[in-house]
Amino acid sequence: RIDAAPIAFDNSYARLPQNFFARVEPTPVAAPRLVKFNRALAVEMGLDADALEADGAAIFSGNRILPGSEPIAMAYAGHQFGQFVPQLGDGRAILLGEVVRPDGARRDIQLKGSGPTPFSRRGDGRAAIGPVLREYIVSEAMAALGIPTTRALAAVTTGQPVYRERVLPGAIVTRVAASHIRVGTFQFFAARGDTDSIRTLADHVIDRHYPELKDADGRYLKLLDAVAARQAALIARWLGVGFIHGVMNTDNMAVSGETIDFGPCAFMDTYDPRTVFSSIDQTGRYAYGNQPMIGQWNIARFAETLLALLHETPGEAVDLANDAVGRYMERFQAEWNGVVRAKLGLEGNPGGGESDAGDGEDTEIVRAFLALMAEQKADFTLSFRRLSDAAADGDADLAFAALMADPQAAAPFLARWRARLSREALPATEQAAAMRAVNPAFIPRNHRIEEAIAAAVEEQDFSLFEAMNDALARPYDDQPTLAAFAEPPRPGEEVLQTFC
Ligand code: AMP
Ligand code: MG
Ligand code: MG
Repeated sequence: RIDAAPIAFDNSYARLPQNFFARVEPTPVAAPRLVKFNRALAVEMGLDADALEADGAAIFSGNRILPGSEPIAMAYAGHQFGQFVPQLGDGRAILLGEVVRPDGARRDIQLKGSGPTPFSRRGDGRAAIGPVLREYIVSEAMAALGIPTTRALAAVTTGQPVYRERVLPGAIVTRVAASHIRVGTFQFFAARGDTDSIRTLADHVIDRHYPELKDADGRYLKLLDAVAARQAALIARWLGVGFIHGVMNTDNMAVSGETIDFGPCAFMDTYDPRTVFSSIDQTGRYAYGNQPMIGQWNIARFAETLLALLHETPGEAVDLANDAVGRYMERFQAEWNGVVRAKLGLEGNPGGGESDAGDGEDTEIVRAFLALMAEQKADFTLSFRRLSDAAADGDADLAFAALMADPQAAAPFLARWRARLSREALPATEQAAAMRAVNPAFIPRNHRIEEAIAAAVEEQDFSLFEAMNDALARPYDDQPTLAAFAEPPRPGEEVLQTFC
């Protein structure tokens, strides 16, 4: 029989001007093995999941290029730790093409670790198995948490070594994204004074991610505001689950508003806003609590690339851009208030007389809770989860208090929070359920990720990786048989550093 192609590509980025990318094919690998295939995601995308799985090793290693694929490496620039680099680009990633899902949404399908490109500089174009499994676990966990993110469609091992701090098995992750257009993509053209290309790119981004702005007056300012608003919402959601991106360089900020590039990322265990995991973040620039401010810094860099489109008078353009950058921080504050109040069950605030401005009783309760966790070195995720239980059941107070270095310290907060909670409209059991629906039991614990990677590297044993993915697929459900994945590290189990 004659098979239809398993992926119906429609490659809008490859139709943009030649200076946006380089055409380059993946470099074949010796002995590819499909170690994970995300069937549910393939189906959601309208792909032929059976055909892809049957030939997964060849397809997701780049050894076989499917009909309709037009492999390209995208050009981009970016600020890395504050330093501008005018040319970065996909040095180890290759966009195979795009598909339009049955619901009309367009998605990129990209291989990461598939060999050198014209943007590789001194890099080998490859990825080690550890970062590939980490990206798979964490990006899928983010999706299950309901946070905008790129996804993982497949992971293959290549059968070839890569040379890092030590020799490691090579691997390739297939990444699915709303697009791979970054703040750094705009910076690539801005650095070259190429306003025509910036306009072309901005119009492409509007078509693709902000179609409601297509015919709007002042659409480039509205684009700036819309990108800033999505980042503000995204970063508020990150903070809500204790996520530390780790490398918020402008080339790692997607204009779609998705989380992208899971290099040295990690979830915080013990609450401390200064937490940093990345081995390359010496100064703590991308610490947990700095992320909102770094988001604003990156939005300012994005705004700079749009100046020529904002207004014909440079001074006016700068004023418009500055105002938009200011609106980002207001937006972030409002988003964060929403996230953290929901996590504490403080949604309705009947009779509280407080606006969302963040200056009243609820703000004080939020502050008290964060201070308690910090002083008591409490686990961030479990503190919110046990507090959710305590909303319906006074006996759960003990389990909450037990998370504190000194369990006695929890009482004053609990009393104050209960008094406030009693003014919420929901009955207690529904209140607890609403809180559990925003306070996950399961996050990708770093020590567990490292364990899963070690088992895969040292024993070719992917069972921990599999079990962890299962647990993280339902992060808001208590799953007693998988409870080990919910536990914070015991003393001696902590993983303090992550590597990309
Ligand atoms: P990242 O730190 O992952 O955001 O990557 C920053 C830049 O370095 C991007 O241009 C990547 O494509 C490039 N890069 C990272 N690792 C490699 C590698 N092994 N080979 C080639 N380019 C790489
Ligand atoms: Mg990157
Ligand atoms: Mg990376």
